[in-house]
Amino acid sequence: MTFAPVLDQGPGTIPAGSAPVGGPDLPQERRLVTEIPGPLSREMLARKAAAVPNGVGVTLPIAVVAAGGGVVVDVDGNSLIDLGSGIAVTGVGNAAPEVVAAVTEQVARFTHTCFTITAYDGYIRVAEALNRLTPGDHEKRTALFNSGAEAVENAVKIARAYTRKQAVVVFDHAYHGRTNLTMAMTAKSMPYKSGFGPFASEVYRVPLSYPFRDGGLSGAEAAAAAISQIEKQVGASNLAAVVIEPIQGEGGFIEPALGFLPALAAWAKDNGVVFVADEIQTGFSRTGHLFASEHEGLVPDLITTAKGIAGGLPLSAVTGRAEIMDAAHAGGLGGTYGGNPVACAAALASIDLFENGGLTERAREIDVVLRGALDALRAVDDRVGDVRGRGAMMAIELVDPATGAPDAALTARIAAFAHANGVVLLTCGTYGNVIRFLPPLTISDDLLREGVRVVGEALAANPL
Ligand SMILES: *Cc1c(COP(=O)(O)O)cnc(C)c1O
Repeated sequence: MTFAPVLDQGPGTIPAGSAPVGGPDLPQERRLVTEIPGPLSREMLARKAAAVPNGVGVTLPIAVVAAGGGVVVDVDGNSLIDLGSGIAVTGVGNAAPEVVAAVTEQVARFTHTCFTITAYDGYIRVAEALNRLTPGDHEKRTALFNSGAEAVENAVKIARAYTRKQAVVVFDHAYHGRTNLTMAMTAKSMPYKSGFGPFASEVYRVPLSYPFRDGGLSGAEAAAAAISQIEKQVGASNLAAVVIEPIQGEGGFIEPALGFLPALAAWAKDNGVVFVADEIQTGFSRTGHLFASEHEGLVPDLITTAKGIAGGLPLSAVTGRAEIMDAAHAGGLGGTYGGNPVACAAALASIDLFENGGLTERAREIDVVLRGALDALRAVDDRVGDVRGRGAMMAIELVDPATGAPDAALTARIAAFAHANGVVLLTCGTYGNVIRFLPPLTISDDLLREGVRVVGEALAANPL
């Protein structure tokens, strides 16, 4: 589809009606008709610089007008391969028709009541679905919020109310959000925390299993080290919750060695500590399971979800054991917008697609395609030190082949090359040397392979 945006509200704007409709019917192709960013995108970004603070950065400075399937289309008419899905959000695809229909219907009925003032069915249906689908067949409850950080905050509140203890254990490289408590729980200073303290107290950080960099400790050995540190530096009698991402997101797509997570969960159970799986990035079919915890049969006490839950609308959840979830007093949990009816409609449509639309199976197919393509990159370039992750959540770690030292500069050059060549590609990692592949589950194999091919071209264009 080609289109000529007409400016009518100043530079970088297009009038309603002249933008292409998003969703899976967009031509699924990488198509560059200008340099990236093109002139219209540059005009919009100039307005952004004058209207939006510097702290709100933009990784790839294009002005998006439509997205769907596996592409993002900008105002200049460029079509980019989407390997980020808005940070693991549009698993069902951008502007998925089922989500658009559900949202359209709900938005015409009512847009808001505040669930804690007057309740509605959609919220309860989302809670029922999450109670049914999250790991474990015990009785569960779900509370809904707006963002991932808010879900993590509430999981900690609930764990503290239940245990009547205060300390929270988190891990090296962890990312849990940008609010005050979740900044304290997040590991990396720049850009998430630097200058924004003081941070919440009673948050303790312990080592993670990181097979590529911890000398190959087994999961059991790494868990023993973490547990020893918890016992010595915190003490189970003070500890309300252990909060962990089953595969770390922002921290570098670190996949702990098998056995690490179950050992921690068992220790938490034996010691009256609430085990919280932060599945905000890993959840909703992304890793080839509905939830990443399932990979090792893990049954968390509480699970936080957000990102993929509602096809792009803001919604998050805490789901967990009824006796823990019910520990907070009436009126202790909530918020004006939490579980907004439009977001719930989007979540119900999305969850139906995850459960019945073949998306978990699709994530496993993407695993095969991605892993094959990334292993092939590693076979010809020893700067690709590690290929890891699962499903549509995979990454490569770029290193100095002689020393294994992280190569953040190369990583930044690869990302810049990909952006200039029409691929939305994200980096991550404590050392800034991880390229992550997080495509929508609706991307085609061809686009996926083409995206990785561009990364290969980027490596070739940046020789040692
Ligand atoms: C993104 C993320 C969060 C924070 O979610 P927001 O919606 O950005 O507040 C928390 N935990 C993990 C694992 C995440 O990936």
